[in-house]
Amino acid sequence: MKEQSLDPENWHQMRKLGHQVIDDVIDLLCNIGHVPVWNEVPQEVKNTLSTDLPQFPTTANDVYVEFLRTILPYPKGNIHPRFFAWVQGGGTPLGAFADLLASAMNPNVTIGEHSAMYVDQQVVKWCKQLMGFPETSSGLLVSGGSMANITALTVARNHKAGYDVRTNGLYGSPAALVLYCSVETHSCVLKAAEILGLGKNSVRLIGVDKQYRIKIKDLEKQIQTDLKTGFSPFCVVATVGTVNTGAIDPLKSIRDICRTYQLWFHIDGAYGAPAKLTGSHKQRLRYIEDADSVAFDLHKWFQAPYEAGCVLIKDQEVHRAAFSFTPKYLMNEMEGLAGGLDPITNYGFELSRGFKALKVWMSFKEHGIKKITRQIVQNLRQAKHLGLLITRNPELELMAPISLSIVCYRFIRQGISQSEANALNRELLIKLQVSGIASPSSTILGGAYCIRVCILNHRTKTSDIELLVAQSIKIGYSISEAIK
Ligand SMILES: *Cc1c(COP(=O)(O)O)cnc(C)c1O
Repeated sequence: MKEQSLDPENWHQMRKLGHQVIDDVIDLLCNIGHVPVWNEVPQEVKNTLSTDLPQFPTTANDVYVEFLRTILPYPKGNIHPRFFAWVQGGGTPLGAFADLLASAMNPNVTIGEHSAMYVDQQVVKWCKQLMGFPETSSGLLVSGGSMANITALTVARNHKAGYDVRTNGLYGSPAALVLYCSVETHSCVLKAAEILGLGKNSVRLIGVDKQYRIKIKDLEKQIQTDLKTGFSPFCVVATVGTVNTGAIDPLKSIRDICRTYQLWFHIDGAYGAPAKLTGSHKQRLRYIEDADSVAFDLHKWFQAPYEAGCVLIKDQEVHRAAFSFTPKYLMNEMEGLAGGLDPITNYGFELSRGFKALKVWMSFKEHGIKKITRQIVQNLRQAKHLGLLITRNPELELMAPISLSIVCYRFIRQGISQSEANALNRELLIKLQVSGIASPSSTILGGAYCIRVCILNHRTKTSDIELLVAQSIKIGYSISEAIK
């Protein structure tokens, strides 16, 4: 049998295809504001995307043509200036190039003496500087906020349990460990508690005030009750930027409670932590620096292409103690390929890791943190502007205070019931999405169905916000005329 490899037989053709790919990427991104935000995936496309495992080769060109026909035209939409759903960043062209370069180099960034290890370490160092964590703290780049949170909570559990959890598991625990957070906390914290063996019942979901922030008095009361009844409180999770409304928990009070009761102070800042860099939020968010750990995303407000998130742990030794493991096939040497830095696998669960650091490294260098900060400020201002337009229009109702860049509103008419208003706004949202005008998402606040807008995109302009308001009113009227 002739020896083969998976490299192209004709490098010249592959080079041509590569140039075409780059041209198409640039065309896509520089025209993105002029196409609909979203198109439904047609059934015919779904059918071709469910065919069986290919047995025989197709030329690279043909594969690419199929991508252009079936995949590219039906995007999620989050690179578009009028994508406002969930909490999603928009990516950048250089970030996309970085992913191409990272894949071409294809290092497994976990162990060894090679450049990607140093890039990864440098990006972690920058992340510490972003959050005001000391140089002596440690950090890990992960796929996103969910992984960042579970990594931090693993360290918190092991450190605060008071016995060797790694050896004895939770069977060694003299009392059930409990964790505190608000009812508005992201579901990944609950999932993490399940996976860590604590179980949902060990998560005390504390109520929130009118601004959707954790009620401090209730938090402290619950801790005292748990102590009296034989539980073992170990951690409070504060959120900077809840997914529903962008609320920021009172960090200073939570820090003080953690100090009083010797609990781990963790911050889920997946969405909102980057606002720490802005003048308007600097004071309020400076207490992030007092946390034992913080999780935040690089693929949200920092605009790295998916996926990239970061977790920082104040005490490097405590972090390492939760994950270090040295099997014989992964020994680190003083020199040679297996030399260099402390293996990254000593700081998290994953062994194989991609070179996600490169897209962050290139993006931070390309723009500098000052420009990236101005981008965040711009989104905060756009959210304020949207809030103002909503309160000025009698047809619209602002449904929650604006703390960051999430705005919840609904279309409202005199004399309609809550359930009629809910049905109307559900239809309004679907019309906005299906027409390709804009893609907000939804939430329910106090029983009311709300259109939820999260402005996190560096491509969004004030005119996009104004168009959203005008179209919401127009479509809202047309629906309410029809049901009358
Ligand atoms: C997005 C988000 C998460 C989850 O992060 P992923 O990057 O999606 O895994 C957790 N918490 C908050 C507050 C978030 O906004």
